[in-house]
Amino acid sequence: MRLETLAIHAGGDADAATGALSPPIHLATTFRHGPAAERIAGYEYQREGDPTNDRLRTAICALEGAEKALTFASGMAAISALLESLEPGARILIPRDCYTGLRVLAAEFLPARGIEAVAVDTTDPGAVRASCGAGVAMIWAETPSNPLLEVSDIAALAAIAHEHGALLACDNTFATPVLQRPLALGADIVMHSTTKYFGGHSDVLGGALAFARTDALFARVAHRLHVTGATLAPFSAWLTLRGCRSLPARMAMHCANARRVAEFLAGQPQVEEVHYPGLASHPGHAAATRQMADAGGMLSIELRDGRDAALALAGALRLFTNATSLGGCESLVEHRASVEGDRPVSPPGLLRLSVGLEHVEDLIGDLRQALAAL
Ligand SMILES: *Cc1c(COP(=O)(O)O)cnc(C)c1O
Repeated sequence: MRLETLAIHAGGDADAATGALSPPIHLATTFRHGPAAERIAGYEYQREGDPTNDRLRTAICALEGAEKALTFASGMAAISALLESLEPGARILIPRDCYTGLRVLAAEFLPARGIEAVAVDTTDPGAVRASCGAGVAMIWAETPSNPLLEVSDIAALAAIAHEHGALLACDNTFATPVLQRPLALGADIVMHSTTKYFGGHSDVLGGALAFARTDALFARVAHRLHVTGATLAPFSAWLTLRGCRSLPARMAMHCANARRVAEFLAGQPQVEEVHYPGLASHPGHAAATRQMADAGGMLSIELRDGRDAALALAGALRLFTNATSLGGCESLVEHRASVEGDRPVSPPGLLRLSVGLEHVEDLIGDLRQALAAL
């Protein structure tokens, strides 16, 4: 079956007891078992699994082409469960441009567990290969990356990882399986912040890991989730599953709108740079064309006049709301350097845009009036 069909039907069997088409939400924390703790319907205690999370996991497996998936209370819970399940002494490579939470985890939390994370330019396979020399357990890719929309070649990174006996994990939050399926390109694990496009309505936090194989690492991560308890609540699983149903339709419109917005911004004199992999001028355009079905709904721009112009533009926008996060129906704008704390890494003149599902002429009109006010 094709992805649009899987998105509607995977994990969507009608309820056996009532025939309800919308899946029931089982809020039960505990499930009746036999006198010697024999499981009756496969469930025991919510921290160790529940029917609504299982439906969502089934859907994510189908969409990513995975053998098993785990769902978590947030994207960061998924990332930390995976990375903290590596053996102490492990060395991992992470992208130089990546989600801030991963950078902070790598700097402040992983070293105490004996895990060393080295930042490399994952858009450059040569640089990645050179950094693998001293032994590496995992390469982490985030493509397109946050906030610079850098594109890394997943198949090339998978080949390098496997040559060195390492795993490739890929944060697929920006692309979603609608646009890019890392496991089919050789990655071993896919990670999602389902808070973003999967949920799709800026109202549910969640994370997921999709595994190509049910192996020892999968078992360790599942055990860690069950014991440490960063579980996704059933209602959150239900909202995320509902988001899956419209994910392909929403992504098509996010992509179409973002492409038009990127092309408009590329023609504006106040805009020095547009980072959008769908533009032929983007350094990752060729790789994006190979591995993505379309370029996505995220882009960032750098203003010629730097920080002050970026803040003035963000302040003058009316339809784009100043807010963090991404992937919802509404368009958002964010001055990344301002939210990165004491030591910002984003360029001072950079704004990140999450292009929503409004009419694209209204979005362009808003950008036009805000640019005119600079
Ligand atoms: C938001 C995000 C995360 C973290 O997910 P949370 O659900 O906020 O914990 C990780 N990676 C990327 C690319 C993100 O955008």
